Amino acid sequence: KNGVVIVGAGHAGVQAAASLREEGYDGPVILIGDESELPYHKPPLSKTFIKDPIAKPQPLRGEAFYSGSAIDYRPGVRIEAIDAGARRLDVSGGGSLAFDHLVLATGARPRLLKLQGSELSGVVSLRSLADARLIRELSDQSEDVVILGGGFIGLEIAATLRAAGRNVTVVEAVDRLLGRAVAPVIASHVRQRLEAIGVRILTGTTVAGLEGEGGRVSAAITSGGERLPAQMVIIGIGVVPNVELAEAAGIAIANGIRVDQQMRSSVPDILAIGDAASYRHWFTGADVRLESVQNATDQARLAARTILGHADAYSAVPWFWSDIGDMKLQMVGLTSGGDSHVVLGDLAENKFSIYHYAGSRLLGIESVNRPGDHMLGRKMLGAGFSPTPQAVAGGPDALKAALA
Ligand code: FAD
Repeated sequence: KNGVVIVGAGHAGVQAAASLREEGYDGPVILIGDESELPYHKPPLSKTFIKDPIAKPQPLRGEAFYSGSAIDYRPGVRIEAIDAGARRLDVSGGGSLAFDHLVLATGARPRLLKLQGSELSGVVSLRSLADARLIRELSDQSEDVVILGGGFIGLEIAATLRAAGRNVTVVEAVDRLLGRAVAPVIASHVRQRLEAIGVRILTGTTVAGLEGEGGRVSAAITSGGERLPAQMVIIGIGVVPNVELAEAAGIAIANGIRVDQQMRSSVPDILAIGDAASYRHWFTGADVRLESVQNATDQARLAARTILGHADAYSAVPWFWSDIGDMKLQMVGLTSGGDSHVVLGDLAENKFSIYHYAGSRLLGIESVNRPGDHMLGRKMLGAGFSPTPQAVAGGPDALKAALA
Protein backbone atom coordinates (compact mmCIF):
# COMPACT_ATOMS: atom_id res chain seq x y z
CA LYS A 1 0.00 0.00 0.00
CA ASN A 2 1.45 3.36 -1.05
CA GLY A 3 -1.09 5.29 0.98
CA VAL A 4 -2.14 8.92 0.78
CA VAL A 5 0.23 11.70 -0.13
CA ILE A 6 -0.88 15.23 0.79
CA VAL A 7 0.85 18.09 -1.00
CA GLY A 8 0.83 21.31 1.06
CA ALA A 9 1.02 21.46 4.85
CA GLY A 10 -1.23 24.44 5.52
CA HIS A 11 -4.65 24.53 7.18
CA ALA A 12 -6.15 22.11 4.64
CA GLY A 13 -3.30 19.62 4.37
CA VAL A 14 -2.79 19.20 8.10
CA GLN A 15 -6.52 18.72 8.71
CA ALA A 16 -6.68 16.13 5.92
CA ALA A 17 -3.90 14.13 7.57
CA ALA A 18 -5.60 14.34 10.96
CA SER A 19 -9.01 13.42 9.58
CA LEU A 20 -7.67 10.39 7.74
CA ARG A 21 -6.55 8.99 11.08
CA GLU A 22 -9.73 10.05 12.89
CA GLU A 23 -11.78 8.28 10.21
CA GLY A 24 -9.72 5.11 10.68
CA TYR A 25 -7.39 5.15 7.70
CA ASP A 26 -4.52 2.79 8.53
CA GLY A 27 -2.24 3.10 5.50
CA PRO A 28 0.74 5.45 5.16
CA VAL A 29 -0.04 9.19 5.32
CA ILE A 30 2.72 11.41 3.95
CA LEU A 31 2.36 15.18 4.37
CA ILE A 32 4.66 17.23 2.17
CA GLY A 33 5.23 20.94 2.67
CA ASP A 34 7.71 23.30 1.06
CA GLU A 35 8.02 25.48 4.16
CA SER A 36 10.55 24.52 6.81
CA GLU A 37 8.35 25.15 9.87
CA LEU A 38 5.97 23.08 11.85
CA PRO A 39 2.62 23.93 10.13
CA TYR A 40 1.15 27.06 11.74
CA HIS A 41 -1.96 29.22 11.96
CA LYS A 42 -2.00 31.93 9.31
CA PRO A 43 -4.71 34.30 10.65
CA PRO A 44 -2.61 35.64 13.60
CA LEU A 45 0.15 36.74 11.23
CA SER A 46 -1.67 39.89 10.11
CA LYS A 47 -3.50 40.51 13.39
CA THR A 48 -0.83 40.23 16.09
CA PHE A 49 2.43 38.60 14.99
CA ILE A 50 3.79 41.48 12.88
CA LYS A 51 3.50 44.03 15.70
CA ASP A 52 4.81 41.87 18.53
CA PRO A 53 8.61 41.49 18.53
CA ILE A 54 8.52 38.35 20.63
CA ALA A 55 5.43 36.62 19.22
CA LYS A 56 5.99 33.02 18.23
CA PRO A 57 4.18 31.18 15.48
CA GLN A 58 1.18 29.17 16.65
CA PRO A 59 1.50 25.58 15.45
CA LEU A 60 -1.65 23.97 14.06
CA ARG A 61 -0.68 20.82 15.96
CA GLY A 62 2.17 20.10 18.33
CA GLU A 63 5.15 18.13 17.09
CA ALA A 64 4.01 15.06 19.02
CA PHE A 65 0.81 14.92 16.98
CA TYR A 66 2.64 13.91 13.80
CA SER A 67 4.66 11.08 15.29
CA GLY A 68 1.79 10.03 17.56
CA SER A 69 -0.60 9.73 14.61
CA ALA A 70 1.94 8.09 12.29
CA ILE A 71 1.82 11.08 9.94
CA ASP A 72 5.04 11.31 7.99
CA TYR A 73 5.49 15.07 7.81
CA ARG A 74 8.25 16.09 5.42
CA PRO A 75 9.04 19.81 5.65
CA GLY A 76 11.11 21.74 3.15
CA VAL A 77 10.13 19.45 0.30
CA ARG A 78 8.46 20.53 -2.96
CA ILE A 79 6.51 18.33 -5.30
CA GLU A 80 7.66 19.20 -8.80
CA ALA A 81 5.42 17.05 -10.99
CA ILE A 82 2.54 14.57 -10.92
CA ASP A 83 2.30 11.52 -13.15
CA ALA A 84 -1.42 10.90 -12.73
CA GLY A 85 -1.47 7.66 -14.76
CA ALA A 86 1.44 6.04 -12.93
CA ARG A 87 0.40 7.60 -9.58
CA ARG A 88 3.87 8.94 -8.93
CA LEU A 89 5.25 12.30 -7.86
CA ASP A 90 8.59 13.94 -8.62
CA VAL A 91 10.13 15.27 -5.45
CA SER A 92 12.49 18.27 -5.24
CA GLY A 93 16.10 17.19 -4.97
CA GLY A 94 15.39 14.05 -6.99
CA GLY A 95 13.52 10.86 -6.35
CA SER A 96 9.89 9.98 -6.67
CA LEU A 97 7.02 9.00 -4.46
CA ALA A 98 4.13 6.65 -5.24
CA PHE A 99 0.57 7.15 -4.02
CA ASP A 100 -2.79 5.44 -3.97
CA HIS A 101 -4.59 8.74 -3.34
CA LEU A 102 -3.21 12.24 -3.74
CA VAL A 103 -4.62 15.28 -1.94
CA LEU A 104 -3.62 18.63 -3.41
CA ALA A 105 -3.71 21.26 -0.68
CA THR A 106 -1.35 23.69 -2.36
CA GLY A 107 -3.13 26.88 -1.27
CA ALA A 108 -2.62 30.20 -2.97
CA ARG A 109 0.06 32.87 -3.30
CA PRO A 110 -0.11 36.67 -3.33
CA ARG A 111 -1.00 38.23 -6.66
CA LEU A 112 1.99 40.12 -7.99
CA LEU A 113 1.82 43.68 -9.19
CA LYS A 114 4.00 44.74 -12.06
CA LEU A 115 4.97 48.23 -11.00
CA GLN A 116 7.92 50.41 -11.64
CA GLY A 117 10.06 49.81 -8.55
CA SER A 118 8.35 46.63 -7.35
CA GLU A 119 11.73 44.87 -7.23
CA LEU A 120 13.03 47.30 -4.57
CA SER A 121 13.73 45.89 -1.14
CA GLY A 122 11.02 46.78 1.35
CA VAL A 123 8.28 45.83 -1.14
CA VAL A 124 6.57 42.77 0.29
CA SER A 125 3.36 40.80 0.61
CA LEU A 126 2.03 38.58 3.39
CA ARG A 127 1.17 34.92 3.03
CA SER A 128 3.67 32.86 4.98
CA LEU A 129 5.42 32.98 8.32
CA ALA A 130 8.62 33.90 6.47
CA ASP A 131 6.77 36.91 4.97
CA ALA A 132 5.48 37.89 8.42
CA ARG A 133 8.98 37.73 9.91
CA LEU A 134 10.28 39.96 7.12
CA ILE A 135 7.45 42.48 7.65
CA ARG A 136 8.14 42.54 11.37
CA GLU A 137 11.81 43.22 10.71
CA LEU A 138 11.13 45.91 8.09
CA SER A 139 8.52 47.50 10.31
CA ASP A 140 11.24 48.18 12.89
CA GLN A 141 13.02 50.32 10.31
CA SER A 142 9.90 51.99 8.89
CA GLU A 143 8.05 55.05 10.06
CA ASP A 144 5.81 55.17 7.01
CA VAL A 145 4.05 52.21 5.46
CA VAL A 146 1.95 52.15 2.29
CA ILE A 147 -0.45 49.25 1.77
CA LEU A 148 -1.78 48.50 -1.69
CA GLY A 149 -5.22 46.95 -1.49
CA GLY A 150 -8.12 47.60 0.88
CA GLY A 151 -9.20 43.98 1.33
CA PHE A 152 -9.27 41.97 4.56
CA ILE A 153 -5.51 41.36 4.71
CA GLY A 154 -4.55 44.92 3.81
CA LEU A 155 -6.90 46.41 6.40
CA GLU A 156 -5.89 43.96 9.13
CA ILE A 157 -2.25 44.87 8.54
CA ALA A 158 -3.13 48.58 8.43
CA ALA A 159 -4.84 48.42 11.85
CA THR A 160 -2.04 46.30 13.33
CA LEU A 161 0.82 48.49 12.14
CA ARG A 162 -1.08 51.66 13.09
CA ALA A 163 -1.44 50.27 16.62
CA ALA A 164 2.33 49.80 16.56
CA GLY A 165 2.71 53.51 15.86
CA ARG A 166 3.42 53.52 12.12
CA ASN A 167 2.04 56.10 9.67
CA VAL A 168 -0.11 53.91 7.47
CA THR A 169 -1.70 54.78 4.14
CA VAL A 170 -3.99 52.33 2.34
CA VAL A 171 -4.35 52.78 -1.42
CA GLU A 172 -7.40 51.06 -2.93
CA ALA A 173 -8.22 51.14 -6.64
CA VAL A 174 -12.02 51.01 -6.43
CA ASP A 175 -14.24 53.50 -4.67
CA ARG A 176 -14.86 51.46 -1.51
CA LEU A 177 -13.08 49.09 0.85
CA LEU A 178 -13.44 45.30 1.10
CA GLY A 179 -14.48 44.83 -2.51
CA ARG A 180 -17.86 43.25 -2.73
CA ALA A 181 -17.09 40.93 0.20
CA VAL A 182 -19.27 42.82 2.67
CA ALA A 183 -22.24 45.19 2.61
CA PRO A 184 -21.43 48.86 1.88
CA VAL A 185 -22.53 49.86 5.39
CA ILE A 186 -19.85 47.60 6.89
CA ALA A 187 -17.22 48.85 4.46
CA SER A 188 -17.91 52.47 5.34
CA HIS A 189 -18.06 51.68 9.06
CA VAL A 190 -14.62 50.01 8.85
CA ARG A 191 -13.29 53.00 6.94
CA GLN A 192 -14.52 55.49 9.53
CA ARG A 193 -13.03 53.60 12.43
CA LEU A 194 -9.68 53.11 10.73
CA GLU A 195 -9.56 56.79 9.87
CA ALA A 196 -10.42 57.63 13.46
CA ILE A 197 -7.24 55.87 14.62
CA GLY A 198 -5.20 57.72 12.01
CA VAL A 199 -5.01 55.33 9.08
CA ARG A 200 -5.10 57.31 5.85
CA ILE A 201 -7.30 55.71 3.19
CA LEU A 202 -7.24 56.64 -0.47
CA THR A 203 -9.97 54.96 -2.52
CA GLY A 204 -10.35 55.29 -6.28
CA THR A 205 -6.57 55.58 -6.36
CA THR A 206 -3.79 53.37 -7.65
CA VAL A 207 -0.04 53.48 -7.29
CA ALA A 208 1.70 54.54 -10.48
CA GLY A 209 5.19 53.61 -9.36
CA LEU A 210 7.62 53.28 -6.49
CA GLU A 211 10.73 55.32 -5.79
CA GLY A 212 13.84 53.98 -4.10
CA GLU A 213 17.09 55.06 -2.52
CA GLY A 214 20.06 52.74 -2.53
CA GLY A 215 17.89 49.79 -3.60
CA ARG A 216 15.34 50.29 -0.79
CA VAL A 217 11.85 51.67 -1.40
CA SER A 218 11.40 55.27 -0.23
CA ALA A 219 8.03 56.37 -1.62
CA ALA A 220 4.95 55.39 -3.57
CA ILE A 221 3.60 57.75 -6.21
CA THR A 222 -0.19 57.68 -6.53
CA SER A 223 -2.18 57.90 -9.74
CA GLY A 224 -3.06 61.41 -8.61
CA GLY A 225 0.64 62.32 -8.51
CA GLU A 226 0.99 62.43 -4.73
CA ARG A 227 4.28 61.22 -3.26
CA LEU A 228 3.67 59.01 -0.22
CA PRO A 229 6.84 58.41 1.80
CA ALA A 230 7.24 54.71 2.56
CA GLN A 231 10.09 52.62 3.87
CA MET A 232 7.88 49.56 3.44
CA VAL A 233 5.21 48.88 0.80
CA ILE A 234 2.89 45.93 1.34
CA ILE A 235 1.04 44.54 -1.64
CA GLY A 236 -2.29 43.02 -0.62
CA ILE A 237 -4.29 42.80 -3.80
CA GLY A 238 -5.50 39.23 -3.52
CA VAL A 239 -4.13 35.78 -4.22
CA VAL A 240 -3.91 33.33 -7.09
CA PRO A 241 -4.47 29.61 -6.50
CA ASN A 242 -1.46 27.29 -6.83
CA VAL A 243 -2.77 25.16 -9.70
CA GLU A 244 0.29 24.80 -11.93
CA LEU A 245 1.27 21.40 -10.57
CA ALA A 246 -2.20 20.01 -11.27
CA GLU A 247 -2.53 21.79 -14.59
CA ALA A 248 0.73 20.33 -15.91
CA ALA A 249 -0.61 16.87 -15.03
CA GLY A 250 -3.69 17.43 -17.19
CA ILE A 251 -6.10 17.91 -14.28
CA ALA A 252 -9.05 20.22 -15.04
CA ILE A 253 -8.67 23.80 -13.81
CA ALA A 254 -11.37 26.48 -13.53
CA ASN A 255 -10.28 29.35 -11.28
CA GLY A 256 -8.70 26.66 -9.10
CA ILE A 257 -8.41 22.90 -9.26
CA ARG A 258 -11.95 21.92 -10.16
CA VAL A 259 -13.51 19.41 -7.75
CA ASP A 260 -16.85 17.67 -7.37
CA GLN A 261 -19.02 17.42 -4.25
CA GLN A 262 -16.64 14.80 -2.80
CA MET A 263 -13.51 16.91 -3.47
CA ARG A 264 -12.39 14.70 -6.35
CA SER A 265 -10.62 16.38 -9.25
CA SER A 266 -11.09 15.31 -12.87
CA VAL A 267 -8.78 12.40 -11.90
CA PRO A 268 -10.84 10.61 -9.23
CA ASP A 269 -7.96 9.41 -7.02
CA ILE A 270 -6.56 12.93 -6.94
CA LEU A 271 -8.48 15.27 -4.64
CA ALA A 272 -8.08 18.99 -4.06
CA ILE A 273 -9.07 21.10 -1.06
CA GLY A 274 -8.71 24.56 0.44
CA ASP A 275 -7.72 27.81 -1.25
CA ALA A 276 -6.57 25.91 -4.35
CA ALA A 277 -9.92 24.19 -5.06
CA SER A 278 -12.93 25.50 -6.94
CA TYR A 279 -16.35 23.90 -6.93
CA ARG A 280 -20.08 24.45 -7.29
CA HIS A 281 -21.32 25.62 -3.91
CA TRP A 282 -24.31 23.75 -2.53
CA PHE A 283 -25.61 26.87 -0.81
CA THR A 284 -25.83 29.18 -3.82
CA GLY A 285 -25.41 26.93 -6.85
CA ALA A 286 -22.61 29.23 -8.02
CA ASP A 287 -19.00 28.27 -8.79
CA VAL A 288 -16.67 29.47 -6.05
CA ARG A 289 -13.17 29.24 -4.73
CA LEU A 290 -13.28 30.27 -1.09
CA GLU A 291 -10.31 31.44 0.95
CA SER A 292 -11.04 30.69 4.59
CA VAL A 293 -9.92 28.45 7.38
CA GLN A 294 -13.43 26.99 7.60
CA ASN A 295 -13.47 26.06 3.92
CA ALA A 296 -9.98 24.52 4.12
CA THR A 297 -10.68 22.40 7.19
CA ASP A 298 -14.20 21.27 6.31
CA GLN A 299 -13.12 20.25 2.83
CA ALA A 300 -10.19 18.37 4.36
CA ARG A 301 -12.55 16.41 6.62
CA LEU A 302 -14.71 15.50 3.66
CA ALA A 303 -11.74 14.53 1.47
CA ALA A 304 -10.62 12.06 4.16
CA ARG A 305 -14.10 10.52 4.15
CA THR A 306 -14.10 10.27 0.37
CA ILE A 307 -10.77 8.41 0.47
CA LEU A 308 -12.29 6.00 3.00
CA GLY A 309 -15.10 5.23 0.56
CA HIS A 310 -17.92 7.43 1.86
CA ALA A 311 -19.94 9.43 -0.63
CA ASP A 312 -21.35 12.32 1.39
CA ALA A 313 -21.54 15.62 -0.48
CA TYR A 314 -19.95 18.79 0.80
CA SER A 315 -22.57 20.67 2.78
CA ALA A 316 -20.70 22.75 5.36
CA VAL A 317 -22.03 26.22 6.15
CA PRO A 318 -19.46 28.77 4.97
CA TRP A 319 -18.13 31.20 7.56
CA PHE A 320 -15.23 33.57 7.94
CA TRP A 321 -13.81 36.09 10.36
CA SER A 322 -11.46 39.03 10.23
CA ASP A 323 -10.16 41.22 13.06
CA ILE A 324 -9.54 44.78 11.94
CA GLY A 325 -8.41 46.82 14.94
CA ASP A 326 -11.30 46.83 17.43
CA MET A 327 -13.74 45.26 14.98
CA LYS A 328 -14.36 41.54 14.97
CA LEU A 329 -16.03 40.91 11.63
CA GLN A 330 -17.78 37.57 11.26
CA MET A 331 -19.56 36.36 8.18
CA VAL A 332 -21.75 33.31 7.79
CA GLY A 333 -23.45 32.15 4.61
CA LEU A 334 -22.81 33.64 1.18
CA THR A 335 -24.58 36.94 0.67
CA SER A 336 -24.10 37.68 -3.03
CA GLY A 337 -27.44 37.92 -4.80
CA GLY A 338 -29.17 39.41 -1.76
CA ASP A 339 -31.96 41.91 -2.41
CA SER A 340 -32.83 43.19 1.06
CA HIS A 341 -31.39 43.30 4.54
CA VAL A 342 -32.23 43.88 8.19
CA VAL A 343 -29.82 45.65 10.56
CA LEU A 344 -29.69 44.71 14.25
CA GLY A 345 -27.69 46.61 16.86
CA ASP A 346 -25.99 49.95 16.81
CA LEU A 347 -23.27 51.22 14.47
CA ALA A 348 -22.28 53.98 16.91
CA GLU A 349 -21.55 51.32 19.53
CA ASN A 350 -19.48 49.35 17.01
CA LYS A 351 -21.80 46.36 17.52
CA PHE A 352 -24.24 45.42 14.77
CA SER A 353 -25.25 42.68 12.36
CA ILE A 354 -26.70 42.68 8.88
CA TYR A 355 -29.06 39.88 7.91
CA HIS A 356 -29.12 39.46 4.14
CA TYR A 357 -32.13 38.12 2.25
CA ALA A 358 -32.94 37.01 -1.26
CA GLY A 359 -36.73 37.21 -1.22
CA SER A 360 -37.72 35.42 1.97
CA ARG A 361 -34.55 33.29 2.15
CA LEU A 362 -31.86 34.22 4.67
CA LEU A 363 -28.57 34.18 2.73
CA GLY A 364 -26.19 35.12 5.47
CA ILE A 365 -25.26 37.39 8.34
CA GLU A 366 -22.39 39.85 8.60
CA SER A 367 -21.59 40.88 12.17
CA VAL A 368 -19.35 43.44 13.78
CA ASN A 369 -18.67 42.59 17.43
CA ARG A 370 -21.88 40.55 17.75
CA PRO A 371 -20.53 36.99 18.01
CA GLY A 372 -23.86 35.70 19.33
CA ASP A 373 -25.60 36.61 16.07
CA HIS A 374 -22.86 34.84 14.14
CA MET A 375 -23.09 31.64 16.16
CA LEU A 376 -26.87 31.63 15.94
CA GLY A 377 -26.57 32.22 12.19
CA ARG A 378 -24.34 29.17 11.84
CA LYS A 379 -26.97 27.10 13.65
CA MET A 380 -29.86 28.49 11.60
CA LEU A 381 -28.19 28.05 8.21
CA GLY A 382 -26.91 24.62 9.23
CA ALA A 383 -30.45 23.59 10.10
CA GLY A 384 -31.83 25.07 6.87
CA PHE A 385 -33.90 27.45 8.99
CA SER A 386 -34.73 30.80 7.39
CA PRO A 387 -36.39 33.19 9.86
CA THR A 388 -38.57 35.96 8.48
CA PRO A 389 -37.18 39.51 8.57
CA GLN A 390 -39.85 40.22 11.20
CA ALA A 391 -38.54 37.41 13.40
CA VAL A 392 -35.00 38.77 13.01
CA ALA A 393 -36.15 42.27 13.98
CA GLY A 394 -37.55 40.70 17.18
CA GLY A 395 -33.96 40.18 18.38
CA PRO A 396 -31.77 37.17 19.20
CA ASP A 397 -33.88 35.76 22.05
CA ALA A 398 -37.00 35.53 19.90
CA LEU A 399 -34.91 33.96 17.14
CA LYS A 400 -33.44 31.35 19.46
CA ALA A 401 -36.94 30.45 20.59
CA ALA A 402 -38.09 30.14 16.97
CA LEU A 403 -35.15 27.86 16.13
CA ALA A 404 -35.66 25.58 19.12
P1 FAD B 1 -2.21 27.32 2.69
O1 FAD B 1 -2.46 27.55 4.13
O2 FAD B 1 -1.69 28.43 1.85
O3 FAD B 1 -1.19 26.09 2.58
C1 FAD B 1 -0.68 25.63 1.36
C2 FAD B 1 0.72 25.12 1.58
O4 FAD B 1 1.13 24.34 0.46
C3 FAD B 1 1.75 26.23 1.71
O5 FAD B 1 2.58 25.98 2.80
C4 FAD B 1 2.51 26.13 0.40
O6 FAD B 1 3.82 26.62 0.52
C5 FAD B 1 2.47 24.63 0.15
N1 FAD B 1 2.73 24.21 -1.23
C6 FAD B 1 2.21 24.72 -2.38
N2 FAD B 1 2.67 24.04 -3.45
C7 FAD B 1 3.50 23.07 -2.98
C8 FAD B 1 4.28 22.04 -3.61
N3 FAD B 1 4.30 21.88 -4.94
N4 FAD B 1 5.01 21.22 -2.83
C9 FAD B 1 5.00 21.37 -1.46
N5 FAD B 1 4.28 22.32 -0.82
C10 FAD B 1 3.53 23.15 -1.57
N6 FAD B 1 -8.97 32.92 6.90
C11 FAD B 1 -9.98 33.03 7.80
O7 FAD B 1 -10.95 32.28 7.73
N7 FAD B 1 -9.94 33.99 8.78
C12 FAD B 1 -8.89 34.85 8.89
O8 FAD B 1 -8.90 35.70 9.79
C13 FAD B 1 -7.80 34.73 8.00
N8 FAD B 1 -6.70 35.52 8.12
C14 FAD B 1 -5.64 35.34 7.29
C15 FAD B 1 -4.49 36.11 7.46
C16 FAD B 1 -3.39 35.93 6.63
C17 FAD B 1 -2.15 36.77 6.86
C18 FAD B 1 -3.44 34.98 5.59
C19 FAD B 1 -2.27 34.80 4.66
C20 FAD B 1 -4.58 34.22 5.39
C21 FAD B 1 -5.69 34.39 6.24
N9 FAD B 1 -6.85 33.62 6.10
C22 FAD B 1 -7.88 33.75 6.99
C23 FAD B 1 -6.99 32.65 4.98
C24 FAD B 1 -6.57 31.26 5.41
O9 FAD B 1 -5.33 31.31 6.06
C25 FAD B 1 -6.49 30.38 4.17
O10 FAD B 1 -7.79 30.27 3.64
C26 FAD B 1 -5.92 29.01 4.50
O11 FAD B 1 -4.58 29.13 4.90
C27 FAD B 1 -6.04 28.07 3.32
O12 FAD B 1 -5.44 26.86 3.66
P2 FAD B 1 -4.76 25.95 2.55
O13 FAD B 1 -4.19 24.79 3.28
O14 FAD B 1 -5.66 25.75 1.41
O15 FAD B 1 -3.53 26.83 1.97
